[in-house]
Amino acid sequence: MTSARKLSLGCIADDYTGASDLANTLTRAGLRTVQTIGVPSDDLKLPEVDAVVVSLKSRSIEAGTAVERSRAAEKWLRGRGAGHVLFKICSTFDSTDAGNIGPVMDALRADSADSIVLVTPAFPETGRTVYQGNLFVGAVPLNESPLKDHPLNPMHDSNLVRVLARQSKTKVGLVDLATLTRGADAVRAKLADLTGKGIGAVIIDAVFDRDLETIGQVALDHRLSVGASGIGLGLARGLVASGKVTSNAATAISASPVGGPAACLAGSCSQATLQQIANAETIMPVLHLDPERVIAGKEEAQRALAWAKDRIGEGPVLIASSSTPEQVAALQSRHGRDAAGHAIEQAMADLAEGLVQAGVRRLVVAGGETSGAAVDRLRIPGFLVGAEIAAGVPVLRAVGATSGEMLLALKSGNFGGPEFFSDALKLMR
Ligand code: ADP
Repeated sequence: MTSARKLSLGCIADDYTGASDLANTLTRAGLRTVQTIGVPSDDLKLPEVDAVVVSLKSRSIEAGTAVERSRAAEKWLRGRGAGHVLFKICSTFDSTDAGNIGPVMDALRADSADSIVLVTPAFPETGRTVYQGNLFVGAVPLNESPLKDHPLNPMHDSNLVRVLARQSKTKVGLVDLATLTRGADAVRAKLADLTGKGIGAVIIDAVFDRDLETIGQVALDHRLSVGASGIGLGLARGLVASGKVTSNAATAISASPVGGPAACLAGSCSQATLQQIANAETIMPVLHLDPERVIAGKEEAQRALAWAKDRIGEGPVLIASSSTPEQVAALQSRHGRDAAGHAIEQAMADLAEGLVQAGVRRLVVAGGETSGAAVDRLRIPGFLVGAEIAAGVPVLRAVGATSGEMLLALKSGNFGGPEFFSDALKLMR
């Protein structure tokens, strides 16, 4: 089912969780969306979709490499017909004077031959607002928020016109809230005026959810924009409102059920996950790995795999490495935090691979790092995003995977309600 249709929206995200968040936001707004892991190969077969979000890991790497990878992603997206490309950054504008937002924006702007680029990290529903070019995180300006102490990208200036100007060769201007409130045509007139003055990028204010819609509408006149999931939402609504996209994302993933055996893996030791495992014990067989034996060698994962193979014909199973904070601390003091974590992640990746080889087609993984290890091992190039199981945790359908059709749910430790595992399996058909 390769699509000959052109993409309505291409997105390049500078980190994986930001990409997932954006893909989920676009899906909720009605766009059939695929998230890819890195720049896909040219021959990746896509189902019929409206948007693709390419996930990069380029937020805090050397600027030249970030530019190179972003341009490769843009080339791929334009090759699939994307008329508009959003460069997705963090809603707290995480960057330094060396980049990478400015250098990547400059390069993509040159490739797109856009006269002026709209830039805003605003996402009012998550407390990120921009007024007179100043970014607020909740009630405080960016430079008073916890971001001032970020280990990689400490943010000491809340005025984004200045922040972007320091890292970009483009002259940066402002479209303020007063102009935005007068509507799309007022913004267009202001942009024309600023373009005439040699300005090539603007920070655009947004304080209310409806501001994103005006921004999205105007941004679609252009080939490139820069921002967080908020502007993504504005672009998605603009595409649906213009009739370029019919809002039908929810049905895209469930068009044909995948079926097949189901299994769950838990490597998160968060309170929420520990409770979810306890609840799963009442509805499915649960095997608790012995973390000490996992670190000692491969046999523990092999034992667990044999246990699972005996049971997956009957119904879902759960394998967990998760322990209480005291047990985790004890294990870490014996083996070191990184060594213990890495060994357990690799065992979980072995299990994911073994389970899929044994026929599992529906896989639920609890834990951010654990999910990353499993997805890397399964070499899944991308996911079609489906309905949300819990806030921020959608059902995913693998795209272009050598293992064939399969459904996944990947959740960070703290996400999901107490019945998360059964909630997930109910939606994964
Ligand atoms: P979360 O999303 O809750 O942070 P992650 O999977 O990202 O979950 O991180 C959990 C980390 O803890 C992983 O590195 C995992 O391998 C490690 N881990 C899992 N079980 C144990 C355990 N019993 N003791 C120590 N570390 C563990």
